[in-house]
Amino acid sequence: MLDPQHGPMGIARRSPEHARPLAGRVALVTGSTSGIGLGILEEMAAAGAAVVMNGLGDAGQIEGELTRIRKAHDVAAVYLPANLMEPKACAEMIAMATARLGKIDILVNNAGIQHVAPIESFPPEKWDAILALNLSAAFHAIRAIFGDMKARRWGRIINVASAHGLVASPFKAAYVAAKHGIIGLTKTVALEGAEFGVTANAICPGYVWTPLVEQQIDDQAKSHGISHDRVIKEVLLAKQPTKTFAQTSEIGALAVFLAGDAAQSITGTALPVDGGWTAH
Ligand code: NAD
Repeated sequence: MLDPQHGPMGIARRSPEHARPLAGRVALVTGSTSGIGLGILEEMAAAGAAVVMNGLGDAGQIEGELTRIRKAHDVAAVYLPANLMEPKACAEMIAMATARLGKIDILVNNAGIQHVAPIESFPPEKWDAILALNLSAAFHAIRAIFGDMKARRWGRIINVASAHGLVASPFKAAYVAAKHGIIGLTKTVALEGAEFGVTANAICPGYVWTPLVEQQIDDQAKSHGISHDRVIKEVLLAKQPTKTFAQTSEIGALAVFLAGDAAQSITGTALPVDGGWTAH
């Protein structure tokens, strides 16, 4: 007799829980109006989570994206416009998201900026801004939600670091420092959350084609003294053995896996999605 759990050849059928593994969960993704954050938000919604979008951008476009996500995935989707350069705004965003959707199960710290310049001419205000957004904002948001996750004995913290959290490149002093820092923060959070069902992991993308990468091509061309095309081939993709940009949906798919119950024993890691870059 055929087992209803299995199809022909004994291959397990995907149950509705498998199709929407994050149903009933609430996910907040910082910097999700664009690029990787939007990719993660979309995959979380597709997996059934209610989602909180954050980030800068045009109000009309943001509302358009939210409407599209609600319709496509049949989930609640709200927007909180916190400027995460401000520690107070990080805590307020957590409080508002909790008030709107009842809880936050999954916090993805993704918002980030970049500046490319040699150290001797690296503007100190860019150093401060990059550290504030790419590192400190994650700490302030985690600090605001961690007690609640521990009390509910379930939580997922996912920090979007970078291959630059594991290795360096010239002209990116602040970014490389912040990304190495967030991997250290991830490990500490993992240790403090371990006995409470709260995991913390860092995803380390290589180059993904987003506005952040597009915008640095000019500065890279200036710093290296070469053309735009040569920057793409000889600076960006030269590092990535696959010679292709990763897709935002690939980062989203890993975030969904880390957010699921199957990943309860994965904590304190820094997982590269970098086409082999850090295998060098
Ligand atoms: P992006 O520029 O497309 O998106 C950045 C997001 O952060 C946007 O939603 C933006 O509105 C938001 N943001 C900027 N300033 C903010 C502020 N003050 N407060 C709140 N939100 C703010 O960039 P991306 O490439 O999608 O990068 C997302 C993350 O991925 C960053 O942490 C970045 O370092 C990391 N990353 C990107 C790549 C890549 O190749 N694109 C590689 C490795 C890591």
